[in-house]
Amino acid sequence: HVEEWFCSGCGIQIQTEDPDKIGFAPPAALKRETVICKRCFRLKHYNEIQSVSIEDDEFMEMFQSLHKKDALIVKIVDIVDIYGSWISSVQRFAGKNPVLLVANKIDLLPKSTNRGKLRNWMKKTASEEGLKPLDVLVMSTVSNEGVEQVMNQIDTLRKGKDVYIVGCTNVGKSSFINRILKLHGHQGDQLITTSHFPGTTLNLIDIPLEDGRSLVDTPGLMNRHQAAHRLKKKSLKVITPNKELKPTVYQLKAEQTLFLGGLARLDFVSGKPASFIAYVANSLRIHRTKLENASQLYKDHAGELLAPPYISEGEEIPQLKKHTFKVSAEPTDVVFSGLGWITIQGDGITIEAHVPEEVAVSTRPSIL
Ligand code: GDP
Repeated sequence: HVEEWFCSGCGIQIQTEDPDKIGFAPPAALKRETVICKRCFRLKHYNEIQSVSIEDDEFMEMFQSLHKKDALIVKIVDIVDIYGSWISSVQRFAGKNPVLLVANKIDLLPKSTNRGKLRNWMKKTASEEGLKPLDVLVMSTVSNEGVEQVMNQIDTLRKGKDVYIVGCTNVGKSSFINRILKLHGHQGDQLITTSHFPGTTLNLIDIPLEDGRSLVDTPGLMNRHQAAHRLKKKSLKVITPNKELKPTVYQLKAEQTLFLGGLARLDFVSGKPASFIAYVANSLRIHRTKLENASQLYKDHAGELLAPPYISEGEEIPQLKKHTFKVSAEPTDVVFSGLGWITIQGDGITIEAHVPEEVAVSTRPSIL
């Protein structure tokens, strides 16, 4: 007989293995009379929302129930990893519910970034993905840009309904909600409650709004396109930007190659000389080489000169898959999900991107 514990705060089944997943409590906590999960503990004692993640099927379950609600859905994405943090199921499950799309971490883009252009591009992208948001906003929970505006827009668009905040892990969902809590002076821990999502094993955090409605924090989806899914902590630290991306410009000729660490390779196959501008974390090392040497260099030096990923002894180097693109007169971004992008300015150019199977590569008209 295996004993089971349930959180006295939200009712979730307690697990002691993974601190980042829902229902975690340290093993020592099980000795107490009442057990409370880490998420409820932090909420109760620090009035702070902790980010937790769930896998695809749980997320689907949650969304299937959300479908039946009458609520405003606020979908948060990461501006430096739009594709990785997109969650295409949102449009399917939002049903008739209105959606407000918010791109967070705008502080990471160069200061000169044209916000209007960025929002228009996001609107277009959303529409191509089948999502028709009522509005698209950008914000940063770090610099505070746009946060107030997002809150006001939530208030306007919700029209007396509940609000569900959804997104992938790591997009800044908890940071945003914690800001709301601070600004709205939620101090009493009695106000904020955790509850079970009906029909699922998920726990949600309800923040009361003035009219008796709730703002609900949902667990973040661990998206398989996100780098966090496949890379170890050490590598993630190197590739995750934590300050404004400084563009690095490379004037390249055909038959030259750029390596983004050992995580992606971009070959300039043919065309007149052009500029390649990399927007990636400043700590990610870019290596330039001749195309003819690229395969051998990767074989010999992946995991050391070309790192991250850091490869331990006996571990195989990841197989890279090739994607071919053509670039014409318009400046074009080649986007590597989770890493950033390279803007190419030139005409009649053929490039080949080589990345591990799970990494999505795509092109878009330059957003800057
Ligand atoms: P959640 O998993 O969606 O709840 O995300 P968190 O709120 O835990 O944030 C994930 C990571 O992104 C943390 O390291 C935050 O410090 C960082 N982060 C959150 N918002 C921003 C932002 O606006 N700008 C930057 N640069 N980092 C942010």
